[in-house]
Amino acid sequence: MKRMIREMPNTSRAAVFTAPNLPLLIQEFPLRALRPGEVLVRVRMATICRSDLHSYQGLRPSLCPGILGHEAIGHIVAMSGSVCRDLRGTMLEVGDRVTWTEYFCSGDPYYQHVLDMPQKCTGVKKYGHESAHQEPYLLGGFADYCYLQPGTGILSLPEGLSDEEATPLNCGVATMAAATEAACIGLGSTVVIQGLGLLGLYGASMAKALGARLVVGVDPVASRRDLASRFGVDVALDPRSEAHRLEDRIRNLCRPDGADAVIEVAGVPEVIPIGLNLLRAGGRYVLAGVVNPGATVMIEANRILTRCLTLSGVHNYHPRHLLQALDFVVANRGRFPFRDLVDARYPLERIQAAFQDVARRKVLRAAIVPS
Ligand SMILES: [Zn+2]
Repeated sequence: MKRMIREMPNTSRAAVFTAPNLPLLIQEFPLRALRPGEVLVRVRMATICRSDLHSYQGLRPSLCPGILGHEAIGHIVAMSGSVCRDLRGTMLEVGDRVTWTEYFCSGDPYYQHVLDMPQKCTGVKKYGHESAHQEPYLLGGFADYCYLQPGTGILSLPEGLSDEEATPLNCGVATMAAATEAACIGLGSTVVIQGLGLLGLYGASMAKALGARLVVGVDPVASRRDLASRFGVDVALDPRSEAHRLEDRIRNLCRPDGADAVIEVAGVPEVIPIGLNLLRAGGRYVLAGVVNPGATVMIEANRILTRCLTLSGVHNYHPRHLLQALDFVVANRGRFPFRDLVDARYPLERIQAAFQDVARRKVLRAAIVPS
């Protein structure tokens, strides 16, 4: 899906986050010539991730003034080099519709090459989390334009994939590719997913696509449980009404001794000890939702030891997970209605209303469409 690029303006609008819980301000920023290795994209769609909301509410550290938004796609309008390839080696051209890793790193060889964890390089930076005080200012998705920096993994998007299917790839879907990998989900697995927001629904459908024989979803929000069956959840349970019976219910479903894997995407630390109790001996618990500092909870360490449990954290993701996310959505978009997950569109100037609707859970994934 190429787009003809009209003459580029000298400025770009952006929604500026000045302080937690204050209205986002639409401001103009200058567009400048590209530096070596940079790619300029015109943002086509940016969705409000839960972590954008947490930044806005002051629940996680984020620089002010800044431009939030990291789950985004756009069209390339300029490239600094004559040859630029995406993560698969495809030649990129002006006009291409692309997604990109939610972070960029500037060559820390120990993490990047020795440990193969580029997402944890010293000095790694994230789109939607940087200061709008310093050049190039535009490093967030809630703007007309975004400068992709050297060290970003760019991925060309295929024709036919809708913007609603493509935009969550570089945060929600890639994160769940990393989480399901950490959970070692395979043929015949039994999987419990704590939290049926966008990440949970992608995780459920991915677990099914990987061959899980049973996926149990747990979420207190009825509308999410109702949606879950369309995304591969076999049994959706309300943790409040089940209360003390939850463990027995799930243990009965995951015979003979509990789930092979539990994935936390609830963002609430209190669910962690419950999730650990749902695992069979040798089971795997993966944390992907408790992204806020200070998410503290008491767990019985002896249970991890005696049950031989594995506890893993997933944060950012390896660039391979972005490729896997794209391939998964392309291969399964006929089986699961991913397009419906992005259920509201707002122009940039109505971003405040979008944040309010997300905070009130009126929408599942709000999309900002700048142009
Ligand atoms: Zn995100």
